[in-house]
Amino acid sequence: SVRAGVVVTGTEVLTGRVVDRNGPWLSDQLFALGVDHAHTVVVGDRDDDMLAALGFFARQGLELIITSGGLGPTEDDRTAEIVGRFQGREMVLDEATEARIWEILSGLRTRWPHLDEDAIRRANRKQAVVPRGAAILPPVGTAPGLVVAPAPSSAGSRFPVVVVLPGPPRELQAMWPAAVETAEFRAVLAGASSYRSKMLRLFGIPESEIAATMRVAREGGVDLDALEITTCLRRGEIEIVSRWEPGADDVYRAFEDVVRSRHADVLFSDDGRSVDTQVADMLRSSGISVACAESCTGGLLAARLTELDGASEYFPGGLVTYANEAKSELAGVPASLIAEHGAVSEEVAKALADGARAALHAEVGVGITGIAGPGGGTEGKPVGTVWLSVSRGDVDPVARLTRRVHLPGGRADVRDRSTTVALHLLRR
Ligand code: ATP
Ligand code: MG
Repeated sequence: SVRAGVVVTGTEVLTGRVVDRNGPWLSDQLFALGVDHAHTVVVGDRDDDMLAALGFFARQGLELIITSGGLGPTEDDRTAEIVGRFQGREMVLDEATEARIWEILSGLRTRWPHLDEDAIRRANRKQAVVPRGAAILPPVGTAPGLVVAPAPSSAGSRFPVVVVLPGPPRELQAMWPAAVETAEFRAVLAGASSYRSKMLRLFGIPESEIAATMRVAREGGVDLDALEITTCLRRGEIEIVSRWEPGADDVYRAFEDVVRSRHADVLFSDDGRSVDTQVADMLRSSGISVACAESCTGGLLAARLTELDGASEYFPGGLVTYANEAKSELAGVPASLIAEHGAVSEEVAKALADGARAALHAEVGVGITGIAGPGGGTEGKPVGTVWLSVSRGDVDPVARLTRRVHLPGGRADVRDRSTTVALHLLRR
């Protein structure tokens, strides 16, 4: 198999000011190409740390290294030079690239006529200085990407090939296909195998159940070592991702059979679709609209329902009814109901669902009220207690689904998981 490492550069990513989007995206692409992604290393904008990361990957014997970031015109953008040094290639000015960048910059020059031409020219030239013999990928912004094999003199190895891409995710993604097309990259891919993979999503059981299922499978003679299985708990759902080589198709099928036989009632997705997508598809195809009134989630469900393009087809809007007064004024929950049962109660959840439906003229209403913590919990209603109600009054006058759940975790977890529970109630 072919193994790859990713070096994500940028002090802003290292410190967490910017969340890394390139490492995960590249991981998906490598997977699709049948390349085994071994590591992602994040380094700040420091030469030594970058060189150390490259050295680490080379010592692991990786055939492919991909870097992101540090291709800009400023002095602190040094990736091209460092990779050149690492591969034993001297840096040379590529005149065609210089002309190309100058052309791209001419648009900028007319927009900002007061900019110093000389300064631009100098910066522009820096971005056109590349390792001798590297494949040059046409710029998407102003920086060209590079695919750099080791210099022919250095120990005779053709690997690792280093692919140098810009930091802005949009530019990196747009440049990727050109990188894959280069002869250097193709030489790497010659040794790649094609993996298969599948994701199963389950909702409503603890992760320990999956451990038990794996034991059952093993005892039933399924050779789990032929599969690479990762289980992860995410937003209150369990994802089982399996990866295997084509020869192990039968092993995977046997494993999936065991999962299906033990968890038929909680397995809700086997085609990669999230519950969000399933709910959206269901609402769109049935022509039903849904509105919500949220207390403890403060609009997170509305945000989730509007994440997908085209949500206005089925989501007219939502109410954020955090204080008791807002529950009454916006969703029409009688103050007496709140006084009698408390804001976190079955009755109020139902009234919120009905209120949202009425206020926004939707067929279905969702109400959420709960205690996200850390304060506010009582013996009878501990932190994590959430009441959810889905009312389908106009669809069927009696159809109403109301649940109380006790969600684990801190405030953010409780709020996030509440939205997951709501989507699963909607999905039914
Ligand atoms: P530029 O010419 O814009 O400087 P560059 O190739 O030098 O391009 P960086 O300076 O490393 O790239 O990053 C530019 C910006 O792109 C960052 O400030 C950040 O907003 C975004 N960016 C960079 N790396 C990542 C990453 N791994 N994930 C998400 N965003 C990133
Ligand atoms: Mg930069």
